[in-house]
Amino acid sequence: MSGLFESAAVQDKLVERLRALIGAEKVFLSGHILTTASKDESDLEPKAPLCVVRPETTEDVVNVVKTAMDFKAPITARGGGTSLEGSSIPARNAIVVDFTGMDKIVKFVVEERRVKVEPGIVLARLNRYFSQFGLFFPPSTSGAEESATIGGMVSTDASGMYALRYGATRAWVMALEVVTGRGDLLHLGRNVPKSSSGYSLKDIIIGSEGTLALITSATLRLAPLPEARQSVCFLFDELGDLCHASATISAFVERAIALELMDASTIEVLIGEKTLGAKHMLIVELAGTSTEVAKGYEDLKDIAGGASGVLSESGGFSVRKKATDVIRERFGPVVRTDCVLPLTLVSDFVSWVKDCSKPRKTFIFGHIGTGILHILLPQRGDGCWSKAEALAFKKEMAKKAVEMGGSISGEHGVGLGNKDVLALEHGLAIDYMRRIKEVFDPYNILNPDKVLP
Ligand SMILES: Cc1cc2nc3c(=O)[nH]c(=O)nc-3n(C[C@H](O)[C@H](O)[C@H](O)COP(=O)(O)OP(=O)(O)OC[C@H]3O[C@@H](n4cnc5c(N)ncnc54)[C@H](O)[C@@H]3O)c2cc1C
Repeated sequence: MSGLFESAAVQDKLVERLRALIGAEKVFLSGHILTTASKDESDLEPKAPLCVVRPETTEDVVNVVKTAMDFKAPITARGGGTSLEGSSIPARNAIVVDFTGMDKIVKFVVEERRVKVEPGIVLARLNRYFSQFGLFFPPSTSGAEESATIGGMVSTDASGMYALRYGATRAWVMALEVVTGRGDLLHLGRNVPKSSSGYSLKDIIIGSEGTLALITSATLRLAPLPEARQSVCFLFDELGDLCHASATISAFVERAIALELMDASTIEVLIGEKTLGAKHMLIVELAGTSTEVAKGYEDLKDIAGGASGVLSESGGFSVRKKATDVIRERFGPVVRTDCVLPLTLVSDFVSWVKDCSKPRKTFIFGHIGTGILHILLPQRGDGCWSKAEALAFKKEMAKKAVEMGGSISGEHGVGLGNKDVLALEHGLAIDYMRRIKEVFDPYNILNPDKVLP
């Protein structure tokens, strides 16, 4: 069984083999690298890995996988470690493959807005570099851009604030180079926006959280940076009114590229309710030509007519990006969900959550334009949840979201935190997922304790 070595001597042999194959300087057995690699940004329990390796080439990665196959040792891939559901917490006794050393831009074809990168490149760095060409990679990790890597984003199909108009990571991946759990190097996809040639294995790898293959390069499309952008915040007394306005803006205001929600509890913590004198906030970003943005702004004002206040250029987005960190700092560990709902049912779901969670402290924010809600159930302080209560309610929310036609996770993935609710959504399809896992990873060495229940 993965992760259970017969003896310390076997572990030593494994480490020796890794050192011989990829170089001793790329294999770490102690120190802060191991401590960092034992956790992610969730509040799930950390687990110490056996060792951390930092490959520099695809050949290094193949050698690590082949060694792990021989020793039946688990591997957990790691990018920035910003997962919120335990996806990058190592499996027991795992070799953590830390991709941050593979962070080069390999090839850029400006005429096609196409770039090939190594998986460890950090999103913010990628976007800073390509801004000189007037380009950007639209999927985002709102608040974790300085750490999240392209490998991690592809593996979770990350989406973020701009998915409303630009779609999630999947929409921007043309091709992948991967090493499977059989040690095979596969080239999936082509240098074209789409093809119709056989099953899309590239699309199976996207969102698979390091359980099917390790990504060693990604070929991405980039988008032109919009000429003009403007953000505006609407304040609503009733959350239901905000949800309805948001669904209409989503459907009819083409130039609205981001629609973010912060409920009254979140605002109280981040800004201070009294400052605003209103309850809930809808933050909208418009983008396009200057004329389109101006027209979009007028449309917004018509649609959000029920709002009790409007704040222009208020910096709402930068405040919103701090929500997760500030709430965790003040109220300790949280249990979270990132359920996604059909747009017209967000309002019903939110009011059900509010009713069920009373009188406990509950924070609701998220990418309301795509129906993705981040709901945080904090565990420290007056009116907070016990861990058992919070976990039970997380399950209830997943069940409700699925009943309403939504999904248990809009973007954070399954990892460890959503494993026990996956079957609620997929039923028999889980058996097919298991068979896919067996094909890519017959020894069950790739992030073996994640995703599948
Ligand atoms: C403050 C904050 C805000 C966030 N906001 C958003 C948001 O708006 N939208 C969103 O989608 N997510 C968001 N996230 C979650 C997180 O940033 C994303 O899931 C991100 O894609 C993870 O990237 P990473 O490099 O940190 O991956 P990691 O956490 O290191 O890994 C994530 C998963 O990918 C796998 N993996 C990593 N690299 C590879 C590779 N090369 N090959 C195979 N598998 C690999 C890991 O094994 C793991 O299963 C947020 C997180 C934080 C802390």
